[in-house]
Amino acid sequence: MYIVPAQCPYDDCKKSLIDKKKTIKGQPSIKINAEYGSKKGVIYLSSIYDDYEIECGDDFKIEEGAIIDLSCPHCGKRFPVIDYCSCGAPQVYAHIIGGGIIKFCTRRGCTKHSVEFKNSKEIQKFYKYNEELRRKGVIK
Ligand SMILES: [Zn+2]
Ligand SMILES: [Zn+2]
Repeated sequence: MYIVPAQCPYDDCKKSLIDKKKTIKGQPSIKINAEYGSKKGVIYLSSIYDDYEIECGDDFKIEEGAIIDLSCPHCGKRFPVIDYCSCGAPQVYAHIIGGGIIKFCTRRGCTKHSVEFKNSKEIQKFYKYNEELRRKGVIK
């Protein structure tokens, strides 16, 4: 099992989005600010590579199908749109510490997301970072 160490894609922030307090399937989650109309809250993505579970924070119960604005919980900037999902909604992205990106859909209930690496160096860093997290006990 590997976790995706997501970080803010903006150079002046680059803070980790990993939330150790909120776990999904026993592992730290990826915390993202979410906004829909006048409602503001957070959503949590599973950080596990290959797992597509998403949970809404207690204060952010949004109907399935709604397209939500997603932003960094540290700097508040909206994640950039990179693509459109097969469901028609914009897909945004965050960086992965060490290189690579994670893309995810802005439609509530659509669990499509993907991880992309440009080259083998980024993949090596991904594995190395995961070893480090395991040693530190971040990954259970
Ligand atoms: Zn940020
Ligand atoms: Zn979608």
